[in-house]
Amino acid sequence: MAKLLEGKNIASQIRDTLSKRISSSTTKLCLVSIQVGDNPSAEIYTRSQKKNAELLGIEFQLLKLDYSISQERFIEFLNGLNNDTQVHGIIVQLPLPTHLDYKKISEFISPDKDVEGINPVNMGRLVFGRSKVVPCTAQAAVELVNSTGVNLEGKEVVIVGHSEIVGKPLALLLLDKLATVTVCHIGTAKNGHLEEHVRRAEILFVAVGKAGLIKGEWIKKGAIVVDIGINKVDDKIVGDVEFEEAEKRAEWITPVPGGVGPLTVMMLMRNLVSLAL
Ligand code: NAP
Repeated sequence: MAKLLEGKNIASQIRDTLSKRISSSTTKLCLVSIQVGDNPSAEIYTRSQKKNAELLGIEFQLLKLDYSISQERFIEFLNGLNNDTQVHGIIVQLPLPTHLDYKKISEFISPDKDVEGINPVNMGRLVFGRSKVVPCTAQAAVELVNSTGVNLEGKEVVIVGHSEIVGKPLALLLLDKLATVTVCHIGTAKNGHLEEHVRRAEILFVAVGKAGLIKGEWIKKGAIVVDIGINKVDDKIVGDVEFEEAEKRAEWITPVPGGVGPLTVMMLMRNLVSLAL
């Protein structure tokens, strides 16, 4: 039976380190999270951001903008925050209304306040292995694997999902560790090749958002499985991997919830400290 890769213990160690760094500084850190319109799923994340920020003595401001705000007004608003010396970090909460272009908006968050690591300048630095900030979920997933003590060099790593905020930065981080990285996506699935890639993964990351996409019997014996997906099924939160069967085969597996999630928000706090202190 697999050992559980839980995020909360690592998160609390990182919190202790950050707490010492913050209390030894005279700068009063301020993190601003922007939410557009009302959205229950965004509110779950902003509550967690607020709680974690306040535990570290970081001022947290949640700014709610009207659902109908135009892209131009949104960008003006961001520019105001970029120029405000009292603000050290900016988060744009997803989902955004469809009339707002997230990719365009990410270009207008100052790279020096971009705690989510989504500005193209920070993404570009990531390609060179030189970024101060890395998209939080990708970094959290790597921290979990590091905590097992595994050496990634030459390992067969398979990532399912190629989004800008998870799969793509994750692939870059793992390449930097000299892992052999395969990235699967909708094209892989459509061509019926997902199973064969997953079956040979020594380390598997899944970030799609489809419950039961990865069959437990596909998991290689002794694999490390990091399930990033979050899905609501019959009022329960589950990942993308069939957990019961997968845990019989894996050596390490993340629970959902309780795996990547608790670490993601701590990565946000660490990015803020890296940028501001
Ligand atoms: P996303 O932008 O929707 O990306 C999903 C990815 O999966 C896309 O690359 C998509 O490819 C691919 N895909 C779709 N169907 C597929 C299939 N049948 N087989 C293989 N690949 C397929 O989502 P995201 O923002 O990366 O998030 C992914 C999941 O992680 C979601 O469940 C989200 O809630 C969760 N998440 C968790 C955390 C956390 O802290 N735990 C943080 C962020 C996200 P195409 O784009 O080509 O269709």
